[in-house]
Amino acid sequence: MDEFEAIEKFFNQPLRDPRVILGIGDDAAVVCPDAGMDLVISTDTLVDNVHFLMDWSPECIARRALNVNVSDMVAMGATPCWISLALTMPALNEPWLKRFTESLHSLLQHYNMQLVGGDTTKGPLTISITIHGIVEHGQAIRRSGAQNTDHIYVSGSLGAAALAVKMLEDGADFSHTNDAILLDALRDPKPRMDLLPVLRQFATSAIDISDGLAADLEHLCEQSHCGAVIHLPDIPVHPLVVEKRGVDALGFALSGGDDYEICFTVSDQQRAYFEQFCSERALTMHRIGRIRQESEVCFLDEKHHPVVVSVKGYQHF
Ligand code: ADP
Ligand code: MG
Repeated sequence: MDEFEAIEKFFNQPLRDPRVILGIGDDAAVVCPDAGMDLVISTDTLVDNVHFLMDWSPECIARRALNVNVSDMVAMGATPCWISLALTMPALNEPWLKRFTESLHSLLQHYNMQLVGGDTTKGPLTISITIHGIVEHGQAIRRSGAQNTDHIYVSGSLGAAALAVKMLEDGADFSHTNDAILLDALRDPKPRMDLLPVLRQFATSAIDISDGLAADLEHLCEQSHCGAVIHLPDIPVHPLVVEKRGVDALGFALSGGDDYEICFTVSDQQRAYFEQFCSERALTMHRIGRIRQESEVCFLDEKHHPVVVSVKGYQHF
């Protein structure tokens, strides 16, 4: 099988989305976003041994590659629509490709998305997805939108994926049920598509937590030209991380990455309505602090004393 047969067999699918005018097969894809919408574009790459291990199942790798990109769209308030897939592989391994693409297509269908193009090359396994989403004109949620006195929220709980990374490094076998749950949080993160309408209605700024809460919050504050006061006891640490790591647990939530929950801000005027809105829908949100005018993020302990949080998020270089 050559590259072109592989593209035809594994990637080319019937077009389900009428906005895709030209899909796989030409020099480029053509899409026609609805009138009045802005196109939101992002790329995320997974590299073997950095973002996953080759012994992970192809299904898992496909889902992770798509889901981390979908998470970026959620953080922008955008509906994910189309992807192109740049796939670099050591060989054309048909059984692997079959499992990878079946899993990818089925998740794409679940999100009502379409693969419209890509590139297939030989080399160390690397999966790069460029995702295209749409949002009403001018309505994309930016990192830069936080205002002084806004309240800061985190969706879901943090630290499980980071603890799984540490356990992998320590050679854990993950045979225990609770350990398997942690490994799953790392291998198979679920983007918070359910939050899209909530974020669109209430968020003044948002970022998805991929590098670790402390680092990502710092990115948000820098972009918004402000700082924040964070109350450490209010940070939602994953219960299994607390159970396993006790006093160390908070460190995994603060500086470990790969949670793919959303950190976002809501104005003081909207706070009461927002919290009522979430509780009526059984959406768990944790208010962890507030935006302030002075730059830098200040962390307070249970007695409201400042604590130095030196640990920074994941950096590639
Ligand atoms: P070109 O040589 O013009 O870059 P290619 O031969 O790489 O074109 O690709 C042929 C067609 O197949 C293009 O439409 C391209 O978008 C698509 N394609 C190639 N690789 C992939 C892939 N991994 N996933 C989806 N589409 C792909
Ligand atoms: Mg090409």
